[in-house]
Amino acid sequence: MTSSTQRSRIEATLIPGDGIGPEIVEAVQVVFHALGSPFVWNVQQAGMGAAHTGGDPLPAETLQSIRRTRLALKGPLTTPIGGGFRSVNVRLREEFGLYANVRPVRTVFRGRRYDNIDLALIRENLEGFYVGFEHYVAIGDDPHAVAIASGVNTRAGARRIIKFAFEYALRNGRRRVTVVHKANVLKALTGLFLETGREVAKEFEGRIEMNDRIVDACAMQLVTDPWQFDVIVATNLFGDILSDEMAGLVGGLGLAPGANIGEHIAMFEAVHGSAPDIAGKGIANPISLLLAGGLMLDHVGEPDLAQRLRTAIDLTVNEDGIRTRDLDGGASTSEFAAAVVRHL
Ligand code: NAD
Repeated sequence: MTSSTQRSRIEATLIPGDGIGPEIVEAVQVVFHALGSPFVWNVQQAGMGAAHTGGDPLPAETLQSIRRTRLALKGPLTTPIGGGFRSVNVRLREEFGLYANVRPVRTVFRGRRYDNIDLALIRENLEGFYVGFEHYVAIGDDPHAVAIASGVNTRAGARRIIKFAFEYALRNGRRRVTVVHKANVLKALTGLFLETGREVAKEFEGRIEMNDRIVDACAMQLVTDPWQFDVIVATNLFGDILSDEMAGLVGGLGLAPGANIGEHIAMFEAVHGSAPDIAGKGIANPISLLLAGGLMLDHVGEPDLAQRLRTAIDLTVNEDGIRTRDLDGGASTSEFAAAVVRHL
């Protein structure tokens, strides 16, 4: 393994974000410093905070920084519900063509309801119902009498994400890819996804198995027998919902990292949001974002460092019994980070 002094430095954009974002980002900075990570952080703003100070929730300097570093670690960003500005997360994915959302879910905290969970969800990140083609139709004096949304899935987009899922499975020693759809009802929109899944599967025959599940059955089976799954590939909205459900299998949103991957740029984040209900209290669990940083280390070819990080988290949670409140512990965010550092 390369020593930290020999390791070349890699500039990466760091976005603290909203709500608990700055608290968990600080924890990551402390832990990554102790780990001797190669990252040199270029701190940039986005989200509600940026909107209040500069008027734009996604400032041009932040975009320029990501375009230059091609690598970003992002705290959660608040999106106004209903009206207000469009999701900055969605804008970032579109701006940089981050078509693949990789959400691995592994047991971190042992002895819970589900043990030995090791799944990965690959979510299509740019198409489906997230294209934002929606509008209201007014009837009489009700401007919101009817709401209409159109989803868009393309064969090229489906092929790209499903191929990504099979290649991910090969690279990570996985055996099966499950294609999730609702082709019995959304026959065109998600039928195309299933049809493309069957085509791509032929190219991987003998190496990776393929099966498929209707999304509602998949959601139920993830609760009754999650171990039957391996890699799941899903359209945008289904992937969003199922990945939160999968995070629930291993103890909640505080334990689930995500990577947004494009042809040239990759952005890493926690699956959870800005948790306004606990923001500023210093009690947020930083594990999701730490694990997202672990995925970023894997991405830049530092799997040994990533593994050291995961082991330190495992020892802190399971051997020391140091946990934040969402895991029924009493540690603050900074106490948890300090405990992880002791294992590095
Ligand atoms: P949320 O994920 O922020 O919170 C859901 C629940 O989980 C809350 O009770 C919260 O306290 C808890 N929680 C989440 N992360 C935690 C952590 N690290 N430690 C301890 N507890 C944690 O979801 P929400 O409340 O529906 O959304 C809040 C805001 O975040 C919204 O504006 C939403 O749009 C945004 N959001 C952003 C992202 C992102 O930036 N990628 C993802 C999801 C939601």
